[in-house]
Amino acid sequence: MTLFKILLTDGLDATSQSILRESAEVDDKSGISADELLNIIPAYDALIVRGRTRVTASVIDAASRLKVIGRAGVGVDNIDLEAAKRHGITVVNAPTSTSVAVAELTFGLLLALAREIPRADSAMKQGKWLKKELEGVELNGKTLGVIGFGRIGMEVGKRAAAFGMNVIAYDPLIPEEEIKRRGADPASLQDLYAWSDFISLHMPLTVDTRDMIGRQAFAHMKDGVRIVCAARGGIIDESALVEALNSGKVAGAALDVFSVEPPGLTEAVSHPRVIATPHIGAQTAEAQSRASVDIAQEVLSALRGESLRWKVA
Ligand code: NAD
Repeated sequence: MTLFKILLTDGLDATSQSILRESAEVDDKSGISADELLNIIPAYDALIVRGRTRVTASVIDAASRLKVIGRAGVGVDNIDLEAAKRHGITVVNAPTSTSVAVAELTFGLLLALAREIPRADSAMKQGKWLKKELEGVELNGKTLGVIGFGRIGMEVGKRAAAFGMNVIAYDPLIPEEEIKRRGADPASLQDLYAWSDFISLHMPLTVDTRDMIGRQAFAHMKDGVRIVCAARGGIIDESALVEALNSGKVAGAALDVFSVEPPGLTEAVSHPRVIATPHIGAQTAEAQSRASVDIAQEVLSALRGESLRWKVA
């Protein structure tokens, strides 16, 4: 029997590679260039990537044997889904593997914003004792507005409730009863803006959500609101955010994602009331290993023509 040939271009952990090797020949070419990928792709039945490899229409056009593309993680913005559809190539991802990791980072950012932990640490490292200036606020008793109450939003909501926060959520695609079942009070977007002391964003980047958190949205929010975004760059209009921080409308923001990544030293990144992290939401040992195993199993299922849990295209 001919074994399936699987190409890895962004690595995969040892356990997942052994799962694949039971049924396939696996080539690990982590870090491969775009040109090299174009040359070798015709030999493979499956391609597994993380966020680095760009699976463009040219790669897909050249992939004469390819049946499935697997993304070890959630976002498939680096894969040309239209081109994959045109060629009848299945695209699968591992959407549940990183939810807890992103929720935990979000919670770390909420606490870091409330207590200015990064500023306290950097002052200490400059030999300064800023005790009096560093009077923060408590999460307990505050209202957290979660926009996008899917897998990650719901995990953030659970943690917030355990910290004594009132959790309200806006999600146009989830029925109110389901939002309640997931532990939050449903709210309209306008009410969420008006009532929230903290806002956490967990929706996808779509035509509707691009720049959704811009001048108009800020105008409806409470004075002194604090905002966390570990969803996708482009949802917050970063220049509007800088204006809102400068006017005092927004007391602080924590961003794990940016409209351009890496963003360099933009006004938003270097703003003293912004905590910035380099898109590390899913970067835990557990999440990466879960994503690897999930995608290995899903890609093998696709190659065998079995039913799929996470078909994106
Ligand atoms: P999900 O699909 O489970 O949840 C997203 C929710 O957003 C859905 O319930 C959907 O109904 C809702 N939604 C869609 N349009 C909306 C709108 N206009 N307004 C409000 N809600 C809307 O996805 P998830 O796994 O929870 O991921 C959430 C976000 O986190 C995504 O943007 C994803 O790309 C991002 N993410 C970031 C990292 C990171 O490293 N920082 C890692 C994984 C995922």
